[in-house]
Amino acid sequence: MRDFFMTDEDRAFRAEIREFLARELAPRAEAIERDEDWEAVKQVVRALGEAGYMKLMFADLYSGSLSQPGLTHATMLSEEAAYLNYAFETTIATALSCAFPLHRFARPEIRDRYLTPILEGSAIGSICMTEPNVGSDSAGMETRIRFDSKTKEWVIDGFKRYISNATKSDVYIVWGISDPDVAPQKGMTAIAVSADTPGISFPQTYDFMGRRGCVVGEVTFENVRVPAENLLGEENKGFKIMLSAFNFERAILGGSGLGVARSAFDIARDHAQTRVAFGEKLGQKQLIWDMIAQMSWRIDAAELLTYRAAKMYDAGIDGKDLMREAAQCKLVSTETAVYCADRTVQILGGDGVTRQFGRAEQIYRDARALPIVGGSSEMAKYLIAAREMPSIKPNL
Ligand SMILES: Cc1cc2nc3c(=O)[nH]c(=O)nc-3n(C[C@H](O)[C@H](O)[C@H](O)COP(=O)(O)OP(=O)(O)OC[C@H]3O[C@@H](n4cnc5c(N)ncnc54)[C@H](O)[C@@H]3O)c2cc1C
Repeated sequence: MRDFFMTDEDRAFRAEIREFLARELAPRAEAIERDEDWEAVKQVVRALGEAGYMKLMFADLYSGSLSQPGLTHATMLSEEAAYLNYAFETTIATALSCAFPLHRFARPEIRDRYLTPILEGSAIGSICMTEPNVGSDSAGMETRIRFDSKTKEWVIDGFKRYISNATKSDVYIVWGISDPDVAPQKGMTAIAVSADTPGISFPQTYDFMGRRGCVVGEVTFENVRVPAENLLGEENKGFKIMLSAFNFERAILGGSGLGVARSAFDIARDHAQTRVAFGEKLGQKQLIWDMIAQMSWRIDAAELLTYRAAKMYDAGIDGKDLMREAAQCKLVSTETAVYCADRTVQILGGDGVTRQFGRAEQIYRDARALPIVGGSSEMAKYLIAAREMPSIKPNL
């Protein structure tokens, strides 16, 4: 039973969101992939916002059908959207990652200005951590943030890359070093920066092997000045803000991987039951059985780990107590997506690598980024092992 962890209300919600996405996203998915149609992406984001689905993570703001909305339902949204179009799903997952620190750490006027439009689907956000010299090792970032006490403004200088929604966002959450004399974990600050602030520029957006339709690129900050109230939380406490989002983001990424894996598997399963080779259905060959069985158990494992992490979070478990489970769900789901995309292409043969014969080749290209983004598989393994062996000092 795949949805073992679900309540009847959860199941009803899945049916509701599936029906919504079939109406709003499915008819636009081809334009997003073929034409990288950003207007189509925005229309679905707007529809999600108007229907209240962007508020699933924020029970105090939500007013939909669920009695207790939370990460379980945001993860389901992510899974069902990724099933139809992973590029689209990355846009809303990033907007949620931006909304999360705004909801938890922004001053009320900043919350109203930036969070409300994101949750209504009329605005989009980005999170800016990664830099040319700093990816997995986020503590080593070189962006500088200082407070100008004369003008009462934060001043940001730095270069961020691989920023999802870059050029399209209305607000950027930027992390930088504010006290270079202490360990980065104690001297990092997070600031909300409006996209129209002078000094922001976008040197380039990237051309990816997959995820066509989502926008990812570089953002530079040169003497970017923002008002004092744009500070998130406290000065020098930005690392804690970064960590606070990691568990939630990993569960959402578990949903993304699961959606991509399921979409591949469904194609493989159909093909194996209809294609005839050597006088028999492909699915009758034992080598194909092996691939179907391997995909099936991996998807179940990914689903169980993903919704265990989401349900634990919704039960109030977070921080170090959720680190291992969140990392396991992200690791297994995203690697399962890559595995299933690859095996599906194999089962389809030539049709698997040809654009004219369905989505298998698209899913194969889309899936590959999953074990890299949001903390790579190697980083997830480190987190899992670190929790399992508390007496060992990690050697990164
Ligand atoms: C499509 C896409 C969207 C993204 N969106 C965003 C975004 O919105 N905001 C943002 O801030 N960032 C974003 N990123 C950046 C992403 O988080 C980083 O790519 C990721 O953290 C890895 O960093 P890196 O690419 O610099 O690789 P590196 O950190 O240089 O790592 C390269 C490889 O080495 C491995 N590695 C690194 N250190 C170790 C170690 N100690 N032991 C073993 N292996 C190690 C890694 O796992 C990886 O396989 C995005 C990236 C992509 C591809």
